[in-house]
Amino acid sequence: MPDPPTVHRFPTKHEGAFVNAYLVETASGAVAVDALLTVSDSREMRQALEAIGKPLQAVLLTHSHPDHYGGLVELVAGDDVPIIAPQGVIETIVRDDPLKEQILRPMFGDEWAVERIFPDTRIADGESLEFDDAVFTVVDLGPSESPHDSPWVLGRDERIVFLGDQIYDRKHCFLADGFWEQWLANIEALRARFPSDVVFHIGHGGPVRSEDFDWQRRYIETFLDAVNGADWSNQEQAHAAVVARMKTYLPTDELQFLMELSIEPVAAQLGLGE
Ligand SMILES: [Zn+2]
Repeated sequence: MPDPPTVHRFPTKHEGAFVNAYLVETASGAVAVDALLTVSDSREMRQALEAIGKPLQAVLLTHSHPDHYGGLVELVAGDDVPIIAPQGVIETIVRDDPLKEQILRPMFGDEWAVERIFPDTRIADGESLEFDDAVFTVVDLGPSESPHDSPWVLGRDERIVFLGDQIYDRKHCFLADGFWEQWLANIEALRARFPSDVVFHIGHGGPVRSEDFDWQRRYIETFLDAVNGADWSNQEQAHAAVVARMKTYLPTDELQFLMELSIEPVAAQLGLGE
């Protein structure tokens, strides 16, 4: 049997990293999974690709959020390679990118790429792609953590999965898109699908395991409970109460701003606040 492909995680300094992306090194090339957010991180990923010395064969996207596609232009660096995702992921990125520009430019300045490129090659649910001995199969989840999500399974035995943001590795989570019901249902469907020894490479930290779905489910449920239970007659106090509750569940400030960005949108969706 051939050796399994090597998985490289970026940025190489994982500690405190905002977001992760991957290069899967095959016998004759490399396949990227996601592309990071910032110009410097995606440029570092490109330099690592060049140090490996094998051509980029494709970029696969795990979902529609900008911290996973913003670095595409630096990573691809003009190579003629397909950027592959389900149609719904492509449409969401094209639709939401102008809004993401308004949000991310003030936060990240020049580190949010001025020129951005989008996925250009669609793939249907369950379809597979082969690069040397590496077989990738897409799972088109539809709305989940983002408006459209698409984990990639590596290998026919389904023991390695690029899960995107379906599990965060003990970091605060983004729920502002409002698809938590689908997310919770997808957690159960994905848990049932993969073998118990599966390794999940994820968008924020990791790798994690199947049992980490439990932590993720409880995070989502705790957040909804905290928003529901807050006294929305005072929005500022309600916000602070949700933050306090979530920091009891997860005592870290890693990605806390993603959770804080989610409080008012989720309250509005639940008919609270305002
Ligand atoms: Zn993310």
